Parts: sequence; C-alpha cells; structure tokens
Amino acid sequence: MWVDLIKCGKACNYAGACTFLRVEKIFRFFLGFCPDNKYHLIPNPDTAPVVKRIFAMAVSGLGTARIAKALRDDGILCPNAYNSQVLGINRTRTYKDDNDWAKTTVAQIVRNWVYLGHTVSQKASTISFKNKTRIKYPEEDFITVLNTHESLVEQGDFDVAQKIFKIKNRKNKHDFDNIFVGILKCSDCGSGLSIQFPSNGNGRPFFSYSCNRYRQHSKYCTTHYIRYDEIYKIVLEGIQEKQRLVNEHRNELAVYAQKLADRGGDVQSIMRFFELVRKHEQITELTPEILHEFLESVVVYQAEGKRLDRTQKMVMNFRFIKDEWFEANASYFLPISYR
Ligand SMILES: [Zn+2]
Repeated sequence: MWVDLIKCGKACNYAGACTFLRVEKIFRFFLGFCPDNKYHLIPNPDTAPVVKRIFAMAVSGLGTARIAKALRDDGILCPNAYNSQVLGINRTRTYKDDNDWAKTTVAQIVRNWVYLGHTVSQKASTISFKNKTRIKYPEEDFITVLNTHESLVEQGDFDVAQKIFKIKNRKNKHDFDNIFVGILKCSDCGSGLSIQFPSNGNGRPFFSYSCNRYRQHSKYCTTHYIRYDEIYKIVLEGIQEKQRLVNEHRNELAVYAQKLADRGGDVQSIMRFFELVRKHEQITELTPEILHEFLESVVVYQAEGKRLDRTQKMVMNFRFIKDEWFEANASYFLPISYR
C-alpha cells in the first residue's frame, strides 16, 4: 500500500499512517473541532455542541431530514457557512444560505468515526500522481488510528445512531415495520433472528422470527422460532417493568448510587438509565428507537415442551444497567404457550 512508502517524519507509533493523517488534516476541517492545530483535533466550543446535538437527535430516533430541519429552524450555521464566515477558510465552497443544512451533511457527521476520537484515513485516493480520478477503497482497507483526540460522542450512542439510521433506510416487500432488526440474538449460535413473513403454505400464518444460521443451514442450529406478537408483548412488558422498578425505588436507588460513587463505581451509567426512563414516561408501544435506546440485545432460547406445556426463555440485555442492583432483575423469563 502506498502510504507505507511515506516515512513518518516524527518518532511515533503510527509509522506511515501518521504522515498520511497529517496531510489529510491540513486539508480537511471537521465540524466540531478547532482547525488551527493541524496535528491534534481539539473540540471547538462553538461547534462541538452542534455535533453533540446532532448525535443526541439521531439517538432519539430523528432521521436526517428532521435533524437538518431542526438545525435550519434554529439558525445554526451550516459547515460551509461556518468555515467561510467564521474561520475564513474554504471560501470558494458555495452554499445556498447560512443555514443550508443538507441531509447528507447530517448523515456524514453521524457516520464519522472522527467524533469517536479515532482517525480513519485512506478512504479514497487518486489513481496516480497524474491521473486525478478518485477511487474509493473498500472499508477493510481503511487505516484507523484509535484515540487520536478527544471524542464528542460515546461509543454506545454512536452505535445506537448507526443502527437507527440503518433501520430507517430499510424497506421490505410486505411494508412491515420490522422493529427488532439488530436486537434479537440466538442463544445457541449467537446469530441474529430474522423475520419470516406469514405464509399459509408452511403452516405459519404469523409474522415470526427464527435463527438466521438455522435458516441457512438447518444442521447447524435449531429454529428458535418465536412469533412477532409474542416477543413484542414480552419485550414491551420487560421495558415497562424496568421503568416501574426505577420509578418505585427512586430513593433506594439514589442511596445505592451514592454508595457506589463513594467506592468509585460507575454511577454515570445508572444516571443515564434514570434519564432514559424520565424521557419516556409511560411506554405503551415499541419503536426501533425505544428498543435501541433501552436494549443491547434480546437473547432468544429454543422453546421447550409442546402446546400448553411449551415454554421459551429469553434474556433482555439492557444498556447502562449491568450493575449488581439491576443484575438481580436482569433475566426476564416468561413461559409462553401456544395452542
Ligand atoms: Zn442459532
């Protein structure tokens, strides 16, 4: 790879990539960071809050169009206007008006690892010194250097934003809102569970999920079949139950959080969960946003027994509350019986 051929001028661990990163940073300015230091990105007090707000809106389930509209409505300078008017750089870039926020600009920000504190380089290059045609490299050829600067978003929130954006771009032939995408996992092989559309032909007239690996090679796993309406009900009740738990034990939890803080424990996560519960007062229906905000995954086990004796176990893995206090209530077990 040609970056290896460029030797880094300074003594550093990143060898070739380092020089390349420096070259790239000189020419690129990321919204949210100060442009005056070419070698280290430092949060810009003017624009870092804008970036944080964009991520917060993405995590709460707003799509790119609504995020762009919110920024326009509040008169926030778009990146090109900010660069040109405030920083006096890239003046040749054109923009319609000061608040010309495009959906693509929002999407580029939400997908950019630079806000996690990492630097990704070698995404594209020209064919040769003479031929300036841009070619894009496949993702596995990107050069990523971790923790090169301060992050503006936490990894957990970044991941949730990616998942929600992905789901929003997904369509299926039944126009069915497959809200559990990326949430359901097989207890035995760890694959995702994928949706099965109703079909009277196979005797399954319901929307349902089953293990993806099983569906590809039936000898490697078992069905882990679960009906959509059943899992919907269980997961909704599971989240409601956690909300109740927090609301009814507020004082007890506050005391526990204080004790945890005294011994240097992770109080931050418990506070994040408090905020989440407060934000969604009474949840009566599930959306992809609610699922991804509350849950990392739901592990579905193979059902046991037949008909009225049929039981199936599942474990809901919540975000933020891996704490011992919650651990006691972490496993949500509901026997389901089918006729
Ligand atoms: Zn499986």
